Amino acid sequence: MAQAQEALEQAVAQPLTVLSEEERLFASSVREFAEAEIKPYVREMDEKQKMRPEIIQKCFELGLMGIEPGDEYGGSGGSFFMACLAIEELARVDASISVMVDVNNTLTINAFMNYGNEALKKKYITRLATDTVGAYCLSEAGSGSDAFALQTRAESISDSRGDHYLLNGRKMWITNGNEAGIFIVFANLDPAKGYKGITAFVVEKGFEGFTVGKKEDKLGIRASSTCELLFDNCRVPKENVLGEVGKGYKIAIETLNEGRIGIGAQMLGLAQAAFEAALGYTKERKQFGQAISENQGVQFQLAEMAVKIEAARLMVYNAARLKDAKQPFIKQAAMAKLFASEIAEEVASLAVNLYGGYGYVKDYPVEKYFRDCKIGQIYEGTSNMQKQTIAKMLLAE
Ligand SMILES: Cc1cc2nc3c(=O)[nH]c(=O)nc-3n(C[C@H](O)[C@H](O)[C@H](O)COP(=O)(O)OP(=O)(O)OC[C@H]3O[C@@H](n4cnc5c(N)ncnc54)[C@H](O)[C@@H]3O)c2cc1C
Repeated sequence: MAQAQEALEQAVAQPLTVLSEEERLFASSVREFAEAEIKPYVREMDEKQKMRPEIIQKCFELGLMGIEPGDEYGGSGGSFFMACLAIEELARVDASISVMVDVNNTLTINAFMNYGNEALKKKYITRLATDTVGAYCLSEAGSGSDAFALQTRAESISDSRGDHYLLNGRKMWITNGNEAGIFIVFANLDPAKGYKGITAFVVEKGFEGFTVGKKEDKLGIRASSTCELLFDNCRVPKENVLGEVGKGYKIAIETLNEGRIGIGAQMLGLAQAAFEAALGYTKERKQFGQAISENQGVQFQLAEMAVKIEAARLMVYNAARLKDAKQPFIKQAAMAKLFASEIAEEVASLAVNLYGGYGYVKDYPVEKYFRDCKIGQIYEGTSNMQKQTIAKMLLAE
């Protein structure tokens, strides 16, 4: 606690964009990796709608898949803030790889760290940090914003094969669906109790009755698989309940409260990429005998983009620092995700404008940033849902 307090005081005492030496080195190592080993394949992965397995493998080798857990769980022993730095740097190069790493760290591992008993933590965090991609499975066709209306059912059974749960239902929109081996699945064990019947289960690829269904053909983050999951009498061992029976709603909400800071970081990285591209291009592109950046109209657009990114960075970093310092952060997290995703769209759109016709074709990177950033306003709570959270907290103050 003293350490957390010290971290907060340090964060307050200096501008939040100032990184410690460890954080700076970490962020630059992620940037180097992304530039050297992801960038050459970004377009190909977008076109094929598939991540290169060796990039996922490298993310494990570099410790990016388990940034916060300590050595005892095979993790890197970093902070939540560092996970956000990694997500930001990866998104600056590829938003799909970024969300794969984001879901593994800020949702899946995070849920195990906060709610898992020691046996589950040891068994699953170790794998998630070292060799198995994770997925967080809440949404269904009929329940998105209204997540607790989920229809996937769980039933407790005892038969000759021992005590198990049986899961039945369908999940939709699940990130990492094709790559994942470990899935946190929310199902209702006692619908009569409403949301208080919702329980979180750990399902492994290969469990009887579990299959990955259709993969969505998307506007953006196309290399990230977004899949339907089917549970048809899926047998889950009794010990694979994460947290308490009937407390899944709490896990779902609280994990997303934290996870959405990661999405803010992803949107920040995307906005940064769009800005850097636009800045470089406007200095090179000549019209009327001079670089287009010589026009005050263009300069003002660049300035506006930079201001918005700076503001989003302060908000995302602040929310992550507050979480690490165990201070209240939910309002700040919702604000950061809302703002970062909205400015990412504005900045990417301006970047397309500044590229002119070249911004509209796939030979240049900005059309992809424009496509990729739209998801920030939808997943882990739409912009309206963030506003709802913020307003609720303001009115309760
Ligand atoms: C690419 C992608 C990846 C995803 N990954 C995951 C994942 O890994 N795991 C997972 O569980 N889910 C995932 N999702 C699902 C995502 O979280 C939901 O799509 C999102 O929560 C919105 O739900 P919905 O699509 O059902 O939209 P709806 O809830 O139907 O919302 C439609 C519109 O209505 C608005 N609206 C709804 N209710 C209200 C209200 N009360 N007040 C004001 N406005 C309202 C919304 O803001 C939105 O604009 C993913 C989705 C996508 C597209």
